[in-house]
Amino acid sequence: AHLDRIAAVDGDVHAFLHVASDRAIETARAVDARRAAGETLGALAGVPVAVKDVLCTYDMPSTSGSKILDGWVPPYDATVVRRLRDADLIPLGKTNMDEFAMGSSTEHSAFGPTHNPWDLERIPGGSGGGSAAAVAAFEAPLALGSDTGGSIRQPAAVTGSVGVKPTYGGVSRYGAIALASSLDQVGPVSRSVLDAALLHDVIAGHDPLDSTSLTHAWPSMADAARTGRLDDALKGVRVGVVREISGSGEGFQPGVKQRFDETVQLLTAAGAEVVEVSAPSFEYAVAAYYLILPAEASSNLARFDSVRFGLRVNPQSGPVTSERVMAATRDAGFGPEVKRRIILGTYALSAGYYDAYYGSAQKVRTLIQRDFAAAFDKVDVLISPAAPTTAFKLGEKIDDPLAMYLNDVTTIPANLAGVPGLALPIGLAPEDDLPVGLQIMAPAHEDARLYTVGAALE
Ligand code: GLN
Repeated sequence: AHLDRIAAVDGDVHAFLHVASDRAIETARAVDARRAAGETLGALAGVPVAVKDVLCTYDMPSTSGSKILDGWVPPYDATVVRRLRDADLIPLGKTNMDEFAMGSSTEHSAFGPTHNPWDLERIPGGSGGGSAAAVAAFEAPLALGSDTGGSIRQPAAVTGSVGVKPTYGGVSRYGAIALASSLDQVGPVSRSVLDAALLHDVIAGHDPLDSTSLTHAWPSMADAARTGRLDDALKGVRVGVVREISGSGEGFQPGVKQRFDETVQLLTAAGAEVVEVSAPSFEYAVAAYYLILPAEASSNLARFDSVRFGLRVNPQSGPVTSERVMAATRDAGFGPEVKRRIILGTYALSAGYYDAYYGSAQKVRTLIQRDFAAAFDKVDVLISPAAPTTAFKLGEKIDDPLAMYLNDVTTIPANLAGVPGLALPIGLAPEDDLPVGLQIMAPAHEDARLYTVGAALE
């Protein structure tokens, strides 16, 4: 049914870069046969799942949205993909994304943008717009994304989906093509909080192949979500509204603020203790992020050297030296946003500028972590709109990188502090009838709280 749906709508939506039709059917039949033979299978056995193209899959190309990896089939699966297969989920294919996960609209994909199923003229968010659009268009019930500065939560918000960035280190990054290693996290996208929790339970847990993987024993997120569905689940829960990103500031759409305020009222009516908290350093989060991320990305992307992966282009004239082949390949293979960030990142890391830019950004990062710590002394969870606006029009911000970056103001703080965040739909903005998302954040390791509060609100 999902493959039929993909065939029917993906020509318009373009959520997928690759669909593994035959293999998906083969896997589904094998799972069915085992079930028929009486084997007890996991909760998500036989459920199709779409996989963001940033994740390595040994049986499908993995391009990270870039021409430089066009057609590259990795020799191994990312740990999260291996866990999907071990739990008998059925990978349907690979989803579209901004090149190397740099962007908030999927317009930076080298393979053309994804369209928002709510309005095909609008962006599905980014960088994981393909995963969110696939779920919102009913092409897949579940998807995996990656979130470095909001790439799971913002696409979920603008497509009316649920998306979760787990605690940093909670889910393995092994085989996730690195953008900024200190920020990247893989997580679920779905249409309900419980569905996201079930998928979270499949992918989470220690992985010796990822040096930053936590050895924490995680409780069941599905149980946490089920708790949220009980009466009085919100009674006495202390909820903090983060003043700096609560929707009053510049750049927030009125309808987003309106739905957010209504949600605050709902929480209060359900017995939660809602208070306002201040996180003064959040004001500098976007600026700090857009130094730290390019710095780490410029280093990570150095591996695309024309020798080890994908594309190789010879210089148009002159001697064919390894250095000139590398330059020609990177020139042809990387798109403009990737080049912009490599230049920004290498500049920020240069001798003489390191302290002024990268060092200062790292200090801001510490201040943001302290703001979170102070806030979580007073409350159990923090809330804000998941994105400042609903889905904007394709083309609207493509020539204005700063406007695109500012769209991440609500999501970036959680990445800088490593804390988990969940986005879920809270209705449509009255001015454009497009989905609005709520963001819930919890202290590190307390991902379960997101699911309880999220499921209670659903
Ligand atoms: N929009 C952010 C950026 O462009 C998000 C990236 C991400 O989470 N992968 O960096």
